[in-house]
Amino acid sequence: MRAALVWSDELLSYDFGYGHPMRSSRCKMGVEELSKIKELEIFPPRYAEEEELLFVHTEDYVISVKEGKAGDLDTPVPPSMYDPARLSAGATLRAVELTLNEGYDIAVNLCGGWHHAFENRARGFCIFNDVALAARYAQKLGAKRVFILDWDEHHGDGTQKIFYNDDTVFTMSIHQHPSTQYPYVSGYESENTKTNFNIPIMPGEREQDILKRVLPQIPLKVRPFKPDFFIVQMGVDGHKDDPMSSIDLGDRFYEEIAKIFARCVKNHNSKVILLGGGGFNFPKTAELWRKIVETFIENMK
Ligand SMILES: [Zn+2]
Repeated sequence: MRAALVWSDELLSYDFGYGHPMRSSRCKMGVEELSKIKELEIFPPRYAEEEELLFVHTEDYVISVKEGKAGDLDTPVPPSMYDPARLSAGATLRAVELTLNEGYDIAVNLCGGWHHAFENRARGFCIFNDVALAARYAQKLGAKRVFILDWDEHHGDGTQKIFYNDDTVFTMSIHQHPSTQYPYVSGYESENTKTNFNIPIMPGEREQDILKRVLPQIPLKVRPFKPDFFIVQMGVDGHKDDPMSSIDLGDRFYEEIAKIFARCVKNHNSKVILLGGGGFNFPKTAELWRKIVETFIENMK
């Protein structure tokens, strides 16, 4: 078992500023927690090259980020955010290289999982969609069929949109029901296709019922798709102690879903990258990320 964490303090520059929920101190606390895992080797990130951003983004959009002309009130993108966003995306690309080229079974980038970014638009605290970039990059490095599991509290709408008509990438998202939560306009079961699967959760549903409903779906979707690379957006903002959450997931949900998915990766003799995603109760987010990474390491041995 070889496991890697992509990190350097330069990633702390991905930060939307005082008063904004997306502060880089969450990653700092996450890295401190992950330092308790003795198997994890640390590698510095690299910048995503402009042509790599074009794997999923339009050229006009990349230029608008560089010039500080993208973004909105929730996701301000001044020109000074171009390099932090490129570094954060590059950290995810580095995680792909570590797994597919350098023999690591698991690679983690806590400063990633920016699943709301569209091809041509920054949204929901996300500038470059590194989840989608990772899938495309893995395919350039030889993977044929990529399975993305996104259990962030918010629907992975950017990732779904990018791959909606692409049957080489499976997108599965488990999230608070979009009739009650951002992004409101997508994440419904009516959007399900052969390679896109949404499982919305209503506020008030009990954790044990959620587990019973959700967990069996994972091997059911993975097995027939026959993936040869796996990506997880491991947002933990659906936890009952998270200020963003109106659903009641406990620690057990994250441990159980990590366990069942890790076994899927192992059964397919494959590799996985784990990307941070949401989580706004910072100490709890750090603790849950550590538990998830430990569960993957334990169940892929
Ligand atoms: Zn989220």
